[in-house]
Amino acid sequence: MQVEFACPVCEHVCRLDVSSQGDGKAATDRLECPACDWGRDLPAERTDRPTDCLVCGCDDLWRQKDFPHAIGLMLVAVGAVLSTIAWAYHEPVWALGILLAFAAIDLLLFTFVSDVLVCYRCGARYRGVASESDPVYDHELGERYRQEAIRLSEKSPTPPS
Ligand SMILES: [Zn+2]
Ligand SMILES: [Zn+2]
Repeated sequence: MQVEFACPVCEHVCRLDVSSQGDGKAATDRLECPACDWGRDLPAERTDRPTDCLVCGCDDLWRQKDFPHAIGLMLVAVGAVLSTIAWAYHEPVWALGILLAFAAIDLLLFTFVSDVLVCYRCGARYRGVASESDPVYDHELGERYRQEAIRLSEKSPTPPS
């Protein structure tokens, strides 16, 4: 399993492999930021699929396609533009064909791209562990964590430098 997270202290983006090795011994027993001295011990007893976020301990994780949202939007936009051009040249078959082709590409990507688990609180991403039974994004829960983050940042304002 690969973890990708922003360090809670310095916000350095870290990518670590924390998969357990064949003999049941973990490859690493600690998450550490390479850029500062932040670190957090991993639970000794853990399965391949984390029940709690290994970075912040939050137990709400959701499943997301490991696919940059921006690329999906870009595909739709390019398809729409090309289709409009074809339409302008009085080629309705091409216009429709282009739209369908881009929709198909989108669908294929969506089918073949694997899932990641994402932490509601800190946004850490876990690759190679998500399964169909994991919940997808819950807006109510997401909103609760967003509010919590706002409250926390109000309580401890960053000192002026
Ligand atoms: Zn750090
Ligand atoms: Zn987290």
